[in-house]
Amino acid sequence: MRVDSQLKELVDEMFEIMYEFRGVGLAANQVNLPIRLFIANPSGDKEEGPELVFINPEINKAKGSTEAEEGCLSLPGLNAHVKRNKSLHVNAYDLSGNEVNTEFDGFMARIIQHEVDHLDGVLFIDRLTDELRRPIQEQIQKFENAFETRQKSGGIPGIEAMRSEIAIWEKKYC
Ligand code: ZN
Repeated sequence: MRVDSQLKELVDEMFEIMYEFRGVGLAANQVNLPIRLFIANPSGDKEEGPELVFINPEINKAKGSTEAEEGCLSLPGLNAHVKRNKSLHVNAYDLSGNEVNTEFDGFMARIIQHEVDHLDGVLFIDRLTDELRRPIQEQIQKFENAFETRQKSGGIPGIEAMRSEIAIWEKKYC
């Protein structure tokens, strides 16, 4: 796996964005980068770490079941309980280009499943039971409408568009 300086710069920029949005994970396609890569920092704190990078991640040996609340930087203000596997192994490359195969559980396992879902085009709202989806269906519809409007008017937002929206989002949701 070849990791060049351009990819390292993109990853740095993704971490910056993730902290600006107060997130704990971010998938490249959330900021319109067509790469199978995600970043995570379960502490959400730049000073604390750990900062993890997963390139071409594949989940295997997923086990157990656990339910907890999730939110998503792509759906600000929306939270719901999502069922996930308790533990899993991830096969990926790190930012040094080395292959890693590591076991995770708890919160980190949840972040990994959420982010790999993003890379596969799946959002946490797609994993809700009908019962859990119903109370937030109206909010979901608003996001879907906004997304459609945006697509019609020239594509989904990239890094710069997301940055310019931060101020608005913070006013509304923080
Ligand atoms: Zn998300």
